[in-house]
Amino acid sequence: MINTIPSIAVYGLTGCAGELLVILENLEKLLPRVRVASFPFAQSKNDDLKSIDIAFVEGSVSQKHDLEKLEDIRRRTRWLVAVGNCAVWGCVQRGGCNRFELTELKEASYGEGASIEALPAAPLKDHVRVDVELSGCPINATQFLAVTASLLQDHLPYITKKPVCLECKLRENPCVLIEDDLPCLGPITAGGCGALCPSMGAACYGCWGPCEDPQVEAMATVLEEKGFSLPEVQSRLLTFGAPPEIFERLMKTPAKNKVTKEA
Ligand code: SF4
Ligand code: SF4
Repeated sequence: MINTIPSIAVYGLTGCAGELLVILENLEKLLPRVRVASFPFAQSKNDDLKSIDIAFVEGSVSQKHDLEKLEDIRRRTRWLVAVGNCAVWGCVQRGGCNRFELTELKEASYGEGASIEALPAAPLKDHVRVDVELSGCPINATQFLAVTASLLQDHLPYITKKPVCLECKLRENPCVLIEDDLPCLGPITAGGCGALCPSMGAACYGCWGPCEDPQVEAMATVLEEKGFSLPEVQSRLLTFGAPPEIFERLMKTPAKNKVTKEA
C-alpha cells in the first residue's frame, strides 16, 4: 500500500467513547505497523495530517461541529472506517432522540439559550462516503484488528452481517426465544458479538443493528405469538437506530394477535 509506515487516526463524534476504548486497549498490537497521527482521546500531541491512510470514526453526526469534523476527516482520509453502532446506524441518538422535536430536546437537556447547534442524529454514511462499516456496541476487538490488517494490505475487509442466531447455534446455546419465551432479537440482528447476551441466558436487544435482509415481519409475528405488544416490539427494534424504512411493511400491517405483556 505505502512505502512509509501507514498513518492512522481515531476520532470521536457524538458517542460514548466505547469504540475509542476498544481501539486504545488494542493499539499496542498495531503499533509496530502503523503511526498514530491523531487520537485526541488517548494522546495530547496530535497531528492533523493532510493525508491519513486509515481514519476510524466513532459516534453519530448530531451537532454541526460533528459534521464539519467529519467532512474534514473525509477530505484527508484514504479509508474511512465507521466504528460502532452510533457511526453505522445512529444508535440511540437516532432511535431515541429523533422522536422528539430538536429545539425542545436541546432546551430540556442544556437549558434555554444553549449554544449547541444540534442536528437530527444520523450515521456517517448519511453525510459522507464511508469505506468500511464496523458495527457493535462496542465493536469487537478481533473484528477491529482484522479490518485494520485487511486495509493495511490494501483490501476492503469482508464483514459478516449474518444474524446473531448463527453464532448462537455455533455455541450450542439453548434458544431463549423458543425455550424461555424471552423477546430475543437475534434473528434480525447482525452477528459479530459472538451471541454475547443469549450465551448468558438473556435476550438479544439488537445493539449491533440489523442483519442482512432482516425478516422483520416474521420476527414481529413470533414475538406477538409469545404475547409481546407490537408497539413495544417496534420500540425495541428502533431503539438502536435501525432505519425506519425496514419496518415500513410492518407498520402498514398492524398486529392481529392479542397483547398480553410488554417486551
Ligand atoms: S437465543 Fe436468540 S440469538 Fe440465540 S438462537 Fe434463539 S433467537 Fe437466535
Ligand atoms: S447479543 Fe444482541 S444485544 Fe447482546 S451484544 Fe450481541 S447484538 Fe448486542
